[in-house]
Parts: sequence; C-alpha cells; structure tokens
Amino acid sequence: MAAGSLSDSYGGYRARLIEELRTQGINDMSVLAAVGETPRHLFVPEAVRHRAYENSALPIGNQQTISQPYVQALYLQTLQLTGTEKVLEIGTGSGYQTALLARLAAQVVSVERITELARSARKALDSIDLASVLVVVADGTMGWKPLAPYDAILVAAAGPEVPEALVRQLALGGKMVIPIESPSGHQELVRVTRTENGTEEEMLGAVKFVPLIGKQGFGMQSAE
Ligand code: SAH
Repeated sequence: MAAGSLSDSYGGYRARLIEELRTQGINDMSVLAAVGETPRHLFVPEAVRHRAYENSALPIGNQQTISQPYVQALYLQTLQLTGTEKVLEIGTGSGYQTALLARLAAQVVSVERITELARSARKALDSIDLASVLVVVADGTMGWKPLAPYDAILVAAAGPEVPEALVRQLALGGKMVIPIESPSGHQELVRVTRTENGTEEEMLGAVKFVPLIGKQGFGMQSAE
C-alpha cells in the first residue's frame, strides 16, 4: 500500500483513512493509492486541518464543503479510470478531488464558479507539483468547450437535472457522475454513459452535495 509514500507526519492518519475506505467497500487499488499519495491536509483551511483525515465533509469557506473522502473515492471508483483519460471536473472546491483525479487520469480540467476557491485550490495543487491541471473560473454547467470531448466528467455539486452541455461534451463511451436533486430535496448519485443512441443512466444511491448553481443548474440569477 502506498499509504506511507509521502514523507510527512500525516502518514498514519492516511493509512487509517484508507483502511476505513476499504471497510466501506472501496476496493480499487489505484484509488486507494491516490488517497495514500495525496496530502488532504494541504487542501483544507488551517482551522480544520487537524480533522483533514476524518472520513467526513469539512467546511472550506464561501459556504462550500470538501466532500467526505468516502464519497470522493466512490466517485473515482465509479469512473473506472485507467490513466489515459481526459477528465472534466465541475466544482473544484478545495482542489483535493482534482488532485486525486490528476493521479488517476492523463489530463484534468476543473471548473469552479467561485474565484477565491479556485485561487486557493490552484495554490494547493501547485504546492504538490500538479501544475499541469487546468483550473478555470466559469459556470461549469456549460462544461468547458475548448478541450471537449471528455472521457469522463465528475460533477461535485447537485443539480436539478443532467446539464445538456455536459452530455454534449462527453465522448462516446464516456462516463459522467453527477448528483441529481428531486423537487422534494432528495439527492441521488447518477452515472451517465454516452452511447451511440444517446445516454444510459444508472442510479448509484443517495448522497448529499451543495447545489450546482448556474445556467443549467439551480438559481441562475445568483450565478450572474
Ligand atoms: N470536490 C470538491 C468539493 C466541491 S464542493 C473538493 O474536493 O473540495 C462543490 C463546489 O462546486 C463548490 O466549490 C461550488 O462553488 C462549486 N460549484 C457549484 N456550482 C458550480 C458551477 N455551476 N460551476 C462550477 N462550480 C460550481
């Protein structure tokens, strides 16, 4: 296991987190190795740094949260990346999931609507030599056309429906994971696969994410 591959004092905490993820059903070795190699404490605010390796969501400012490690690992396991893919992430947040993606795919583009979060994510990514990841400030419900199509799209905020623009930017055979919120407020994680005839959707279980705000998300007016 690569849990001890980073030379910092948090190795024991990462190893414990990996054990917990395994117990919860994360068995993709490349995902577990990525968790072992990524210093989550550098992606959370100082005030919650001592909790960085807890298996829970944490506040990252601007009313946003870094998702629970289990949910992040489940996302990555669901995408079944092999290391050759071009991936689009919507909702950079802290940049931690972006860093995990960078270890599992060939190219990563991450879109965040809040400038301040994008800026600190950029800093954290640079501090661990992930300068090759592109972080863009934009409305991610419109995707990021200049580098489309993508082999995988990961949406880290819950929208009312699957944004059409994202489906269009998914390569044939490509997979997207996105939480969809029903009018009653229930959120379900959905995997969308682009096929010759359109898309296939699979329901993966209940989740809880912050809202996806944008033209093809919630509250269009607050995003403009
Ligand atoms: N995966 C992130 C957690 C992201 S929380 C992490 O590891 O920290 C969800 C993020 O989605 C928030 O930062 C929020 O600002 C962002 N977001 C919400 N709507 C968006 C949109 N339309 N485009 C881009 N980012 C959006």
